[in-house]
Amino acid sequence: MIRVGLRLIYDWPQNCGVPEGDTVWRSCRRLHEVLAGHRLSRGEFCVPALATTELTGIRVLEVRSRGKHQLFRFDNQMTLHTHLRMEGTWRIFRAGRRWSGGPDYEIRSILATAEHDAVGYRLPVIELIPTTNEPDVVGHLGPDLLGPDWDPEEAVRRISAEPDRTIGEALLDQRNLAGIGTLYRAEVLFLQGLHPRTPVAEVKYLARLVQRSHQLLYANRWRPEQATTGDLRPGRRTYVFGREREPCRRCGTPIEAETFGPPGQERRSLWCPRCQPLIGRTVRS
Ligand SMILES: [Zn+2]
Repeated sequence: MIRVGLRLIYDWPQNCGVPEGDTVWRSCRRLHEVLAGHRLSRGEFCVPALATTELTGIRVLEVRSRGKHQLFRFDNQMTLHTHLRMEGTWRIFRAGRRWSGGPDYEIRSILATAEHDAVGYRLPVIELIPTTNEPDVVGHLGPDLLGPDWDPEEAVRRISAEPDRTIGEALLDQRNLAGIGTLYRAEVLFLQGLHPRTPVAEVKYLARLVQRSHQLLYANRWRPEQATTGDLRPGRRTYVFGREREPCRRCGTPIEAETFGPPGQERRSLWCPRCQPLIGRTVRS
């Protein structure tokens, strides 16, 4: 145990699927802890557009999340913007320790201080922009579920603006509220007894649904093992997510799943057909 603690300071599970907002928030908190206030002894990029960019000697001001986006702000008035999507990850190692986030050719960025190496693996989005231009990359996002300016009323307003859409799609749309991925979508809809294809107009307690989403992310923000059941033991952490065809924890009915969403953004959706009956019109996307 001690040996592991010495080798690797912070780590995140690699195969946890699409990162949810709380995972990105936690990643940024860790990165902020080790980078903020320090000058970079190494600041390199392994992507063609940034191949000649050097940040060595630049000081890191802060690392912040905005929804699922990551913003590294530097004292040269530039911001590194990254997004993990499905495959990316930032790993932090003590200086001099062996890196273990994947093969070297998957490294996209190295931000090192005298004490730590932050290594970005497989980052599908990585760009350096003037800090004043941050609204160009995150300005479209709805209220951030874990942001200091979380605004549930605004999230409800945005979701309500498209009443014919399915609630399943509306919750994943980061322009409505930022931070929910497929795990929290599935779980919060189960907790509210809502079928994922329920039209927004048919959702009676939208404010409660939004509030519940916030509660779930907030409760999980510090722990790597996301749990919505209150039970952190492996295999017992979720009601429906990751449990296709398994019996519902409440009624025993097999959990159903389908993939739906706007073209190009189809995502797996899971629900219990008995606890989450479809009411109102069926919405097909
Ligand atoms: Zn059920």
